[in-house]
Amino acid sequence: MPADCLACRANRGDVTAPGGVIYDDGLWRVEHQLAPAVVPGWLILKPLRHVRSLAELSPHEAAELGPLLVRLTAVLEMETGAERVYSVLLAEAVTHVHFHVIPRRAEIPAGARGPAIFSLPASAPDATCAAIARRIADRLRAHHDLPA
Ligand SMILES: [Zn+2]
Repeated sequence: MPADCLACRANRGDVTAPGGVIYDDGLWRVEHQLAPAVVPGWLILKPLRHVRSLAELSPHEAAELGPLLVRLTAVLEMETGAERVYSVLLAEAVTHVHFHVIPRRAEIPAGARGPAIFSLPASAPDATCAAIARRIADRLRAHHDLPA
């Protein structure tokens, strides 16, 4: 757990995302994108361990990943009305494996869809992000209406 890794710092609680921890099963953690966020509901899904490649996941971590991505996608569709939910793994600026799970709503202009969404200004209000993060956390805890 390198001291200078932003993902590890967030996992330790040194850095707090709007709305706090959304999900933590001991292997994977979900938090809102750190403030200032690009769009409300932009989530970061990452292993608790400092892992630099999906190839380094344990069998247990790997087994949890797919179902968790499915559940996050479903909850973002329900909570944000997104037309698309992107799942993007780059790990360039922060090398700790992390997925950006991004609700792309209808009002996002055509020129800012796909990879261009990363170029939008980070102007989502923190309070809006915190509120949606708490709703997502509640829905994940209830999860009776989510895919298994
Ligand atoms: Zn790390």
